[in-house]
Amino acid sequence: MKALVYLGKDSKALQERPKPTIGATTDAIVRITRTTICGTDLHILKGDVPSCQPGRILGHEGVGIIDQVGSAVTAFKAADRVLISCISACGKCVYCRKLMYSHCLTGGWILGNRIDGTQAEFVRIPYADTSLYPIPEGADEEALVMLSDILPTGFECGVLNGKVQPGGTVAIVGAGPIGLAALLTAQFYSPAQIIMVDLDENRLEVATRFGATAVVNSGDGNALERIMQMTDGRGVDTAIEAVGVPQTFELCEKLLAPGGILANIGVHGVKVDLHLESLWDRNITITTRLVDTVSTPMLLNVLRSRKLDAKRLITHRFRLDRIHDAYEAFAHAADTHALKVIIEA
Ligand code: ZN
Ligand code: ZN
Repeated sequence: MKALVYLGKDSKALQERPKPTIGATTDAIVRITRTTICGTDLHILKGDVPSCQPGRILGHEGVGIIDQVGSAVTAFKAADRVLISCISACGKCVYCRKLMYSHCLTGGWILGNRIDGTQAEFVRIPYADTSLYPIPEGADEEALVMLSDILPTGFECGVLNGKVQPGGTVAIVGAGPIGLAALLTAQFYSPAQIIMVDLDENRLEVATRFGATAVVNSGDGNALERIMQMTDGRGVDTAIEAVGVPQTFELCEKLLAPGGILANIGVHGVKVDLHLESLWDRNITITTRLVDTVSTPMLLNVLRSRKLDAKRLITHRFRLDRIHDAYEAFAHAADTHALKVIIEA
């Protein structure tokens, strides 16, 4: 089968690899029909993710059709259409029993990281019963790819952790796919204001179409002042950090109203200053989380009822044999205006 293989820093290749086989009785082999590229895949290619070793097939998102299942898999059978969760969950360990699937002792984020991933014609999914979801009849498969990772991530790490409330004020710093996923799912709760902050005018324009009540280009260094003006000098109830660099995290610290919540989504590679000298008496909360994908069944229902148009996050489509072009488009989003790219296997 064809598969996109990580070869080391700044190096990847579309290679011919053996089709995966059932290893444990709880495994399933899924024939991928659609997958996508995540910002995390770009981090791996920069050499930022040491757990992902050269030789690994990349990708942790996708939909497909069950090819075969191990003898202990009871929820799925061959030919079932399935959504693949970016998080594998054994369902039994201490963290899975707390619904903290991202910290599953033998699972978590392993796909396209510690085990071969979804940017291939076939993938082996461990703990298939608790790591796959059946695709409802008539569902749009492209839209469902957005449920593997970005929608649950934006929702759980940003909106749920940030306790977005009806009538509340929200700032989302970073209007990439994850920030936009937080923007879409924050609207479940009807906050009064959702202010999107980014450096890229195109992404801010997209954010306006997706329901932001205001947008702020932080390029001129006045983002804090402008957001304070928009919130009568108080700041926001929820600041969602969806970039992962010190400047954006520190902006979020300054944006918080008393009692506010800073919900971090960004993947941080370097230390960030925590300004307790100005925050100690402001009743604030800071949250961090790796997506657990516990909201996936709920998000599937929302998608099915057409209350959320996940497809609007998709800007480009490629065949698997052109996956290098897909990476180029995704990595140069400022020029290509790419959000999520669909790869058809
Ligand atoms: Zn991802
Ligand atoms: Zn577990």
